[in-house]
Amino acid sequence: MKLQFSPEDEQFRAEIAGWLADNLVGEFAQLKFRGGPGDEHMFPEERKAWERKLAEGGWTCVGWPKEVGGRGLSIEQQVIFFEEYARAGAPGRMGHIGEGLAGPTLIAFGSEEQKSKYLPGILSGTEFWCQGYSEPSAGSDLANVKTKARFDEASGKWQINGQKVWTSLAHESEYCFVIARTDPESKAHKGLGFFLIKMDQPGVTVRPIEQITGTSEFNEVFFDDAECAAEDIVGQPGDGWKVAMGLLGFERGVSTLGQQMAFQNELNEVVKLAKDNGAAKDPLIRQRIADAHIGLKIMRYNSLRMLSGGSDGSLQKEALIYKLYWATWHRDLGELAVDILGPEADIMVNAPYELNRLQSLFLFTRSDTIYGGTNQIQRNIIAERGLGMPKELRPV
Ligand SMILES: Cc1cc2nc3c(=O)[nH]c(=O)nc-3n(C[C@H](O)[C@H](O)[C@H](O)COP(=O)(O)OP(=O)(O)OC[C@H]3O[C@@H](n4cnc5c(N)ncnc54)[C@H](O)[C@@H]3O)c2cc1C
Repeated sequence: MKLQFSPEDEQFRAEIAGWLADNLVGEFAQLKFRGGPGDEHMFPEERKAWERKLAEGGWTCVGWPKEVGGRGLSIEQQVIFFEEYARAGAPGRMGHIGEGLAGPTLIAFGSEEQKSKYLPGILSGTEFWCQGYSEPSAGSDLANVKTKARFDEASGKWQINGQKVWTSLAHESEYCFVIARTDPESKAHKGLGFFLIKMDQPGVTVRPIEQITGTSEFNEVFFDDAECAAEDIVGQPGDGWKVAMGLLGFERGVSTLGQQMAFQNELNEVVKLAKDNGAAKDPLIRQRIADAHIGLKIMRYNSLRMLSGGSDGSLQKEALIYKLYWATWHRDLGELAVDILGPEADIMVNAPYELNRLQSLFLFTRSDTIYGGTNQIQRNIIAERGLGMPKELRPV
C-alpha cells in the first residue's frame, strides 16, 4: 500500500484543484457543499448540468480505462481527485450510480454492443441510472427476487413484470439495471437475469416514497409488461447472480470513495458548530470529536489498502470490513452532530420537514447501515468469508 503521493500525483492534484476553482463558479457556485447525504433531492437539474460540465473537462468516470473513454487514473490519483472534489465543495454526484455501478459492471461483463450503446451517455453526463435490486420480499435476501422476465418470441423482446422498491433516483434516471427471474420455476440465485431497462416507457411506473427526512430520494418502481430489447440482457439468462454480485463488489468498494472524501467536510461542519456553540468545551464531546477524526483517518488508510488490491471489483478479504466501518462511522457522526446541536436538534422550522443540514445528516445517516448491505449482513459476510466461520443456517 502506498501512503505517499509522487510528484506527478501532486501535479495532478494541482490540475484538478485548478479546474474546480475555475469552473465551480457562476451558475454552479450555488451547488457548493450541496447534494450530499440528506440533501440528494436538491438542485437535480443544476447538478445534471454540472455533470455535463465535468464531462466537458474530462472529469467523469476518471477511474474507467482509457479504452472505453475514462481517464484510467491510478487508485492514488482517484483518491486525489475525490479529495480535491470534496475540498472544493463540489456537489454530490447525480451520476454516481451510472459511473460507479452500471458502467464498471458493463465494462466487466457487458457485450461490445452494450458498451457502445450505454457507456457514452454515462461519460457525457447526459444519461442517468438507477438500481433495481430490492423488492418487498428481497432485500438482504436478494436471491428471493420475484420480478419476472419472459422472452416474447412474437416481439423478439423481454417482457418484465414485477415490483422493485427503495430505488434511489429512479425519478431522475433514464435507465435501470434490474435483476429478474428468467426461469419462473427457479429458486434462489439460479435462473436470474441482469437487464438494462429504459425507464421512459409505458410499462414502467415510478412512485416516490417519503423518507424520514421528508424528502423522496427513493421510489417504488412497477414493471407491467415493460419491454427490454433481446440484446439488453448482460450475460446469458441464468448469469444474473454472477453479474449482480460483481456489481455489489463495486458498490461496496471503489464507488464510495468520493462519498467518504466528503465526510471530512461534514466533520469540519460539526467541529465548527461545537466551537461556535460552546459544546467543544465539554470533555466528552471533545473526546467524541477526536474519535471521529481518528476514525476518518483510519478509513482513509483502509480504503487505500483495500483499493490497492485491484480495480476489477474482485476485492481482498480486508475489504470486507469497509462497508461496516464507514457506515457505522457516518451514523455515529450524525449522532454526534445532534448531540452538539443540543436542544436545537429537536426544533424544526415549519415542522415537520424543514430541517437544517445537521438534522438531515442525522436522519439520513440512519440509512447508511442499511443500504448496500446492512451491518448485520456485513458481519455475516466477515464471519463467513473473512474468518471462515460456519455458514449461517438458511432455508433449503
Ligand atoms: C437510503 C436507501 C437507499 C436505497 N437504494 C436502493 C436502490 O437504489 N436500489 C435497491 O435495489 N435497493 C436500495 N435500497 C434497499 C437496500 O438495499 C435494502 O434496504 C437492504 O438491502 C436491506 O433490505 P431490507 O430493507 O429488505 O431489510 P431486510 O432484509 O428485511 O432486513 C431487516 C433487518 O433484518 C436483518 N437481517 C436480515 N437478514 C439477516 C440475516 N441473514 N442475518 C442477520 N440479520 C439479518 C437486517 O440486517 C435488518 O436489520 C436502499 C435502501 C436505503 C435505506
